[in-house]
Amino acid sequence: MARTVIRGGAVLTMGPPGFLRGDVAVEGNRIAEVGRVSPGKADVEIDASGCWVLPGFVQTHVHLCQTLFRGLAEDLDVMEWLDRWIWPLEQALDREATAASARWGIAQLLLSGTTAFNAMETARHTDAVFEAAADLGARAVVGKALMDRREPGTDLLGETTDEALADLTRLVDRWHGAADGRLRASVAPRAPSSATERMWRDGLELARRRRLVVHTHVNENRGQAELVSDFNGGRDVEVLDGLGALGPRTVLAHCVWLTDQEMSLLAWSGTNVAHCPTANLKLGSGVAPVPELLARGVNVGIGTDGAACNNSLDALDEMRMAALVHRPRSGAGAMGAQRALTLGTVAGARALGLDAGTVEVGRLADIVVMRTPEAGHLHETADPATHVVFAPDRRVTAVLVDGRVVVEDGELVHGCLRDIERDAFAARRRVVERMRERRAVRQAG
Ligand SMILES: [Zn+2]
Repeated sequence: MARTVIRGGAVLTMGPPGFLRGDVAVEGNRIAEVGRVSPGKADVEIDASGCWVLPGFVQTHVHLCQTLFRGLAEDLDVMEWLDRWIWPLEQALDREATAASARWGIAQLLLSGTTAFNAMETARHTDAVFEAAADLGARAVVGKALMDRREPGTDLLGETTDEALADLTRLVDRWHGAADGRLRASVAPRAPSSATERMWRDGLELARRRRLVVHTHVNENRGQAELVSDFNGGRDVEVLDGLGALGPRTVLAHCVWLTDQEMSLLAWSGTNVAHCPTANLKLGSGVAPVPELLARGVNVGIGTDGAACNNSLDALDEMRMAALVHRPRSGAGAMGAQRALTLGTVAGARALGLDAGTVEVGRLADIVVMRTPEAGHLHETADPATHVVFAPDRRVTAVLVDGRVVVEDGELVHGCLRDIERDAFAARRRVVERMRERRAVRQAG
C-alpha cells in the first residue's frame, strides 16, 4: 500500500484536536497518522514547512459545462442571464466542448484546493464530465440536468421524459462508484419546475435505490421564486416536500428566498443547502438567510456555482465571501472564519455523504497543502482559520485526492494546464460561433 507523508505543517484538522504542528501520513486512500510521524519508509514525502495542511475543500454546487462561458454574460439578473446566454450556450455545447469546459473547470478547482464537488451539468454529454474528473483525479458527484418540462423562459434544452430517464439510468450504471469510488452519479432536476412529476418521481426512486445525491436549484431570485410558485402551484421547498424530495441526501442550491415554513421544512427533513453567495450577489439575486438556517441546524455547504456567474471557482474566495456577506445584516460575529471554513470542508462532506472533510485518522485522504506567510509564524493569539479564509497571499502547493497526489508544486499531476486552456479557448470560439448561427437562423425563421 502506497504511503505518503506530509511533513512539518501547520495542521488545521477541522475535527479534534483542531490545530497542531506536525505530520500527516497517508496509506492507500486513508489518513493513517496525524501528529508526530516517525521517520521511515515513505513512497512520497511532501515538505509542508511554512504551509497549512487542511482537509480538501468540498464544493456543493458547481456547473463545469459553464466554465467556457466565463465573462460572456455579465451584469444581468438570473432570468435574463439564462434566457439570453446560458440556455443558448449550453445548447451549442457538443461533447468535445463539454469535455474542454469540464477539464478547465476541474483544473481550476484542484489548483485552488477543491478536492470534491457536486456538479450539475447540462442535459447532454455528461459522460465527458465524468471522464474529465476521472482523468484529472478529482472526487466528484455529477448529475445530468433533467429538464423535460419547459419552465418559464427556458429554451429548447429539454429532452423527453423517456430520453432523459434512459440517459440518467445509463449514466448511473456506467459511472456511479467508478474510479475506485471517486465518482458518483446524482439525480439533478435543474429546478423543481424544470422536470415533470414523472421525472421527479422516477428520479427519486432511482436515487433511493442507488443511494444517490439529489441536486437541484431552489428560490434563487425573488421574481423567479414567485413566478415558479404560480407555475408549480406552490413554493419550491413545499413542492419538493410534496414529492418526497427533501432529506439528508438532497442538496438545494441557493435558497435565497425562503419563507419561515420553507426553512422549517429544510431543518425538519435534514436537507442540505449549497450557499453560493458570490453568484447570488453577482446576479443580483439576494443574500441567503444562512445565519438563520444554521441556527435551525440546517447543514450548509458552499459552492462557487458556475464560472459564468462568479467568475472564480476558488473555494476559499467563496468561504471569504460567506464570512463577509452576512455581517451587515446579522453583525460582525455572524460568521467567523472557522465557521466559514467548516462550511467549505466538514459541512460539504456531510452534504455529499463523503467520509472526508477533516484531517483525522481513518478519513479519506483528501488533503490540501497551502502556503501563506503566517503558516510558519502563527501568533499565539491568532485564530488559524483567519489566516486561511482571509489570507491575502495564499498559494496551494499540493493536493491529495483519495491518497493520490493530484497537484504537486502548484501544478497538475495528471494534466497540463496550458494544453487544457488552449483546448478551452478553441472550444469557446466554436461554441459561441454555433450559438450565433442558431440565433441567426431562429431570428430569420
Ligand atoms: Zn447553479
